[in-house]
Amino acid sequence: MKIKKIKTKSIIVKSNLPDGNFVINPYVGCTHGCKYCYARFMKRFTSHTEPWGSFVDVKINAPDLIPKNTNKYRGKSITISSVTDPYQPIEGKYKLTRKIIERLIPLQPHLNLITKSDLVVRDIDLFKQFKNCIVALSFSITDEKLRKQIEPLSSPAEQKINALKELHKAKIPTALFISPIFSQITDWEKIINQTKSFVDEYWFENLNLYPSIKSEIFRFLRKNRPELVEKYKKIYSKNSNYWDIEENKIKEFCKKNKVSYKIYFHHKRKDT
Ligand code: SF4
Repeated sequence: MKIKKIKTKSIIVKSNLPDGNFVINPYVGCTHGCKYCYARFMKRFTSHTEPWGSFVDVKINAPDLIPKNTNKYRGKSITISSVTDPYQPIEGKYKLTRKIIERLIPLQPHLNLITKSDLVVRDIDLFKQFKNCIVALSFSITDEKLRKQIEPLSSPAEQKINALKELHKAKIPTALFISPIFSQITDWEKIINQTKSFVDEYWFENLNLYPSIKSEIFRFLRKNRPELVEKYKKIYSKNSNYWDIEENKIKEFCKKNKVSYKIYFHHKRKDT
């Protein structure tokens, strides 16, 4: 694992997320190393040639770049993060995300945290100090054997579920980001039924087969679920309307079960 401390010029940047104003990425790279991670495109912009998941740049001066007095971000959304995980293992050592959030408290943005790690519960004391804050845990695979292969260093689904419970108990609004949905593997109905007593919102994103991850995903399927290889080829063929049908099923289910939801299918974007 290659860890490097770097200095960055800016830390709060305008967001191109579907419903966000600003975004903060405390790190470059992510050792969770998810095989489906779209953020690997960051390598092109950062001159990293190492495999995705094997390097992290720590933006060591990031907290100092948060302005002390400004109304610019008050009530505007700031998402942490879009192309890295703010609670990946190295956060335990550097506490960079924590320091950034501390500096954001006086600015009172609408804080959106998105992570695949249960380390996020460490900062509950800080989240409580925001008038508007939502913490999203992201997972889509509950089978531990599969999870270890597809997102090797993220927290197991059970730990993420426990983190959501703990956040809810602390009265922090929670979201479960069911992402990415793997057809025939992600049982989103079951996940919702198991978690709806402590999750306030569900966000859904389908597996997007970017050219950069396609071979990885098919390798994963051939090894673990060979019977799905041909099905996936059909699902991702040019005129397939599979995800439109799936999207409608999700909408119907959420409405019927009175569950708040956002769907990020057909996206042209982003992140974790
Ligand atoms: S999907 Fe998120 S958690 Fe996984 S490697 Fe990418 S940035 Fe990290």
